[in-house]
Amino acid sequence: MEERAYAKLNLTLDILRKREDGFHDLRMVMQNVALCDDISLEEKSGEGISLHTKAAYLPTDSSNIAVKAAEVFARETGVNLSGLDISIAKRLPVCAGMAGGSSDGAAVLRMLRRRYRPDMGREELERIAALVGSDVPFCVRGGAALAEGKGERLRDLPGLPDCAILLCKPDFPISTPELFGLVRVKKLKFHPDTAGMLSALERGDLQEICRYVYNVFEDVLPRKYQRVWEIKRQMLELDAFTAAMTGSGPTVFGIFAEEEAAQRAAQVLAREYRQVYVTRPWNEKLAKAE
Ligand code: ATP
Repeated sequence: MEERAYAKLNLTLDILRKREDGFHDLRMVMQNVALCDDISLEEKSGEGISLHTKAAYLPTDSSNIAVKAAEVFARETGVNLSGLDISIAKRLPVCAGMAGGSSDGAAVLRMLRRRYRPDMGREELERIAALVGSDVPFCVRGGAALAEGKGERLRDLPGLPDCAILLCKPDFPISTPELFGLVRVKKLKFHPDTAGMLSALERGDLQEICRYVYNVFEDVLPRKYQRVWEIKRQMLELDAFTAAMTGSGPTVFGIFAEEEAAQRAAQVLAREYRQVYVTRPWNEKLAKAE
């Protein structure tokens, strides 16, 4: 079986409060893009769950989110997955704020449902996904959605109208716990206007949508990560309607009306950065509601 695992962007990312369990309540507008990994599953005769990939930097044991997803599925459904072999053709940048690992895990869950539990509803699959990781329920569903709580409460959205999206990932990771540690929710001066974003998406007005793109993590970003602002500035100078960091970074995305403008900007950024991509919104619902 084969599935694509799409990257996600945060059109908005808001932090509402710190909860007693130490997690934060978030409100995010999530959007899939066409850039993807290819995941395949095979049933073999061996013991346990195995994983193959040419990407030598990825773990192949239970710390790979794709393996963890299969283990959680087996535990929650009672299906015996001994002999399952997972292959990952990795294209998505790693530690990028684009949910690459979560999306791989979500693709595994969709395939396992199709193979072993075709009657399982989307709600149950998303419940299992939330046990794997906070971004996994959105990645299971796909398209565009408002995600709340830790990311597990989802509402379908229309998604970005067709446009060109430029992605640029500088060569350093940003630690998600470090960024959360720098957030004092009451001290955040600005928050995204999520309601404004939702109505702009309903109207399908690209320029209007771009006005509402906002990520509160940018406001607490330490100076050592100032490349992120530099990339944003470059994209805006190169005619992006908007540019912002996705998730906890460091990838910056810029939205362009035309592919040619995005390609021109990509050529400029590629002189300085190795990981530069031009992609498009991907609005297909990957796991449909019954
Ligand atoms: P997020 O947006 O959810 O924070 P990210 O894009 O920042 O995700 P990932 O690329 O998902 O981060 O991976 C982060 C870490 O997870 C890396 O340390 C990586 O080794 C590990 N990891 C485990 N499984 C995978 C996978 N299948 N693909 C990518 N990374 C994985």
